[in-house]
Amino acid sequence: MILTILKYPDPVLSQPGEPVTEFNDELRKLVANMFETTYASQGIGLAAPQVGVSKRLTVIDLSMGKNPEEKIVLVNPEIIFSEGKLYEEEGCLSFPDIREKIVRSAKVRVRAQDENGKWFEMDGEELLSRCFQHEIDHLNGVLFIFRMSALKRNLNLRKIRKMQQEGEW
Ligand SMILES: [Zn+2]
Repeated sequence: MILTILKYPDPVLSQPGEPVTEFNDELRKLVANMFETTYASQGIGLAAPQVGVSKRLTVIDLSMGKNPEEKIVLVNPEIIFSEGKLYEEEGCLSFPDIREKIVRSAKVRVRAQDENGKWFEMDGEELLSRCFQHEIDHLNGVLFIFRMSALKRNLNLRKIRKMQQEGEW
């Protein structure tokens, strides 16, 4: 099932997600629906708050549905190590048509649970590193627009207000 993706400034997007405590069929169904929604939107990652579920859960697939082995489910994730710097363009499914360069760590290690509750660690570099950081930010209620410089943020907020007024947001 394809879920509705909330757009900025929906308040759920700015709330920190609650830890996931139950690893049941409901959770696994949500995970499946989140992957389906990500592919339908041609995204590479989606966090539960973006579909109105204020929980610490995110799905990532850099292959955009082409390779099942690249599906990553992070439940209650935390970044336990980071190094280096990247400055690359990012987008967000909650901010259609907005792309901006964001400073991120070049390499991170994430500790998380899978959809069955099993803990694991995973390293990410380059795009995967940026994706981990972007999605985990969502679980903390932090949106990429607040990682931009004040100048870029204000320009984009103005662009969003204009689109809202024209009924295009
Ligand atoms: Zn996002």
